[in-house]
Amino acid sequence: MTGTCPECAAEFELSGVEQGEIVPCPECGVELEVLNANPVQLGLAPEEGEDWGE
Ligand SMILES: [Zn+2]
Repeated sequence: MTGTCPECAAEFELSGVEQGEIVPCPECGVELEVLNANPVQLGLAPEEGEDWGE
């Protein structure tokens, strides 16, 4: 199966991914979250390490 990067529109092969998994785009390196495994739907992963205020 293939997925499409929402950031750079590159299509790349994905194998054995599960919903909720984070995969890096091989083209632009952005982290993508697997929103749906079949058919594969990718979205930008929420950035980690951000402070949400205290
Ligand atoms: Zn990309």
